Amino acid sequence: MDEIRERVNGVIASGRYVGGPEVDALEANLCHLTGAKCAVGVSNGLDALRLILRGYIAMEEMSAGDEVIVPANTYIASVLAISDAGLVPVLAEPDAATSNLDFTLLESLVTPRTRAIMPVHLYGRVCYSPELHRLAEKYGLKIIEDNAQAIGASILTADGLRVFTGNLGDAAAISFYPTKNIGAMGDAGAVLTSDERLAQTVRALANYGSDVRYHNIYKGFNCRLDPIQAAVLNVKLPHVAQENAYRRRLASIYFETLKDSPAVASGALRLPRMPADPEEMVWHQYVVHAADRQHLISELDRLGIRYDIHYATPPHRQPCYDGVFPGSFPVTDLLAASCLSLPITRTTSEEDAHRIAQLIAESDITREI
Ligand SMILES: *Cc1c(COP(=O)(O)O)cnc(C)c1O
Repeated sequence: MDEIRERVNGVIASGRYVGGPEVDALEANLCHLTGAKCAVGVSNGLDALRLILRGYIAMEEMSAGDEVIVPANTYIASVLAISDAGLVPVLAEPDAATSNLDFTLLESLVTPRTRAIMPVHLYGRVCYSPELHRLAEKYGLKIIEDNAQAIGASILTADGLRVFTGNLGDAAAISFYPTKNIGAMGDAGAVLTSDERLAQTVRALANYGSDVRYHNIYKGFNCRLDPIQAAVLNVKLPHVAQENAYRRRLASIYFETLKDSPAVASGALRLPRMPADPEEMVWHQYVVHAADRQHLISELDRLGIRYDIHYATPPHRQPCYDGVFPGSFPVTDLLAASCLSLPITRTTSEEDAHRIAQLIAESDITREI
């Protein structure tokens, strides 16, 4: 907090409240962290996604009515960005074991109008497979990562290289919403890409569509990153590995304490899969699935354990998309009806996680199943 206060005071004293050295530093830090060549600080995660899509439209790589494949099981912002840009979201069912895209279904969703796939690293789990790249190459599709939930996660490639989320496709959006693994003290986000032309286009679009001051090549927006938020983030970003490691410890405590419990053995409770490579998961949420969620909720309420639900209503069931998506999404519906998030933040101590897991293990949540 002292470091944050000092840097925020620096911005206040500078008299420069839009752009400036803190924004430049954050962009450089994000490139260093992810390996992406370019970073553009923007107002929030949804705007980051919107700007990427609008950027491709400005570059004539996409146009109105083109399709973008996106998980049906995601936070609604991923889908909103696509419809906002005048593109058509095509929902893809998840793999129930990971809650992320089921890669085997993707090819059947590709049409002559498909221009991109938007993998979402849901709950902090990398959504990636070499198949994704093969498919993108085969059909000339962009891969646009929704990396709102998985900053600092990485995969090990067949060549032994570590590649970080944000650098797994053509472009990526990050959110620094306060509850994300690295959170600002307000709204903030960033676009990452190694495509310099896209980065320039996004930067112009986020600044009224202006390339040079008072010269507007696009009908743009004002989606700039606040330098006070950038200052906060420049203090927090170097701690991302530590932050994620702490969440991994809490996840291991939940897993080790619950894996042999009667609830898990009976199938009443399913724990999130522990990835073989721990770096592939940064545990933005620790999401369990309960056969009878209402019963689990009443037990948690009785025990005084806080929880949340991410997310109870999937995008295709939201009133704003009423009747928009043809077909049914039974895996998404099942996950939405059974998911429940246990506490996994900095304010959850290791002792808390132990106690929570023990109470759940000893509780009677197999009853009525
Ligand atoms: C948080 C989030 C967003 C939106 O980010 P904001 O900064 O809140 O606009 C987009 N996609 C996913 C998956 C998110 O979790």
